[in-house]
Amino acid sequence: MHEELRKAVCDANRELKQQNLVIYSWGNVSGIDRSAGIVAIKPSGVAYDDLTPEKIVLLDLDGGIVEGNLKPSSDTPTHLELYKNFQAVGGICHTHSPSATAWAQACREIPCFGTTHADYFYGPVPVTDALTRDEIENDYELNTGRVIVRRFADIDPMQVPAVLVANHGPFTWGRTAAEAVDSTVVLEQTAAMALGTMTINPKQEQIDKALLDKHYLRKHGKNAYYGQDLSNAE
Ligand SMILES: [Zn+2]
Repeated sequence: MHEELRKAVCDANRELKQQNLVIYSWGNVSGIDRSAGIVAIKPSGVAYDDLTPEKIVLLDLDGGIVEGNLKPSSDTPTHLELYKNFQAVGGICHTHSPSATAWAQACREIPCFGTTHADYFYGPVPVTDALTRDEIENDYELNTGRVIVRRFADIDPMQVPAVLVANHGPFTWGRTAAEAVDSTVVLEQTAAMALGTMTINPKQEQIDKALLDKHYLRKHGKNAYYGQDLSNAE
């Protein structure tokens, strides 16, 4: 059942290790089949090298297990809350990649200091509010999803496919599980560059809106012109 989705999610999880974004089992990727309402996610505590498509857990959007013998990732309620609220999202990734996590721990958004950032994120990468003691003690993982959704009240999640959960680390997303991992790779690199920028000049300001628009919109806007026109590609 849902073989393609299981394989895509298995490959995306294994890619985290290939890209040096995780150690041990510190990260998880999921994907969703919107038409079937089925979410596929990494099982909890399984090493990436031991991961096979059969071990990927299938759930419905309420967290009920549809197929799989293993326990799903403990972060599953966060993923489900994001799928319920961000309709265009098809894959979600969570890691504790070091540079992005450094910003999350400092509870600071990542300012847009250059075109590398602007090519992927249409503005700063936001940081959430810290969870309250009550939110930590009850339904912690669900509340982590809620605090992210709240932060995106005025942001289009497809224009800024990443967030820093305060005191914790990044969640990223995309149209597929593979794209969610791409977002984490880019976020980690962007976070490291921003850290370097602030080390050189703590007073550095964000790039001009015109440069942000130029770089983001030439790749992602309705008049995007970067890359190949796939409709004409052989
Ligand atoms: Zn975490």
